[in-house]
Order: sequence, then structure tokens, then C-alpha cells
Amino acid sequence: MNVVYYVIKQEPCPTCLGNETVIHPLWSAFWEFFYDDENPDIPDVSDIDEWFTHHGYDYPPDEEIPCPECDGAGFIRREVEISEVLQFIEDRLENLESYAMHEVNS
Ligand SMILES: [Zn+2]
Repeated sequence: MNVVYYVIKQEPCPTCLGNETVIHPLWSAFWEFFYDDENPDIPDVSDIDEWFTHHGYDYPPDEEIPCPECDGAGFIRREVEISEVLQFIEDRLENLESYAMHEVNS
């Protein structure tokens, strides 16, 4: 078995974009159902309660919930093979070199 090295890569969560929270999917559906450009008033409390009761909630849940993708951390960590990291560094160096050459030539 070959030895493989891994590096931990941390990047902003693609789902919440690092915000740590997302809108509860039922609230998104709620606003889609109730929001009207012509009449942008906030729905009555009774409409809100009725909507969520109809969807199985005794009370409306929090509108923002911890992001399920990153468990509210705002970032994702995963193992990547070191070869991927080396490629990333190589690409960066090439970009720096071409930038430097561009600066010298201009
Ligand atoms: Zn997230």
C-alpha cells in the first residue's frame, strides 16, 4: 500500500456562503406563496400560523436556521491529496510569474 499524504482544506460553505445560517425551507416556500409585488404587505399573523400549522408545525419555526450543509460553521473542511495542493501552488506561481512578466514588459 502506497503512502498518501492529505492536507485539510477549509473553504467557505457553498450553501450558506459562510453566513452560517440559511432561510428555513418552509419559510422560503411561505414567502413564495404569500409575497406579492403588487401588495407587499406582511401577511397577517393568523395567515402565518395557519400556513405553518398546515405544514405540521405548532408554531412557526425560526426563519433562519443553522446551515445543514456545514452545521452552522460557515465553512467546510475536507481532506485533499497533497498532489492537489501542489497543483494549486504551481498554478499560483505560474500566475505570479505571468503577472511579473506582464509588469516588466509594460
Ligand atoms: Zn453552510
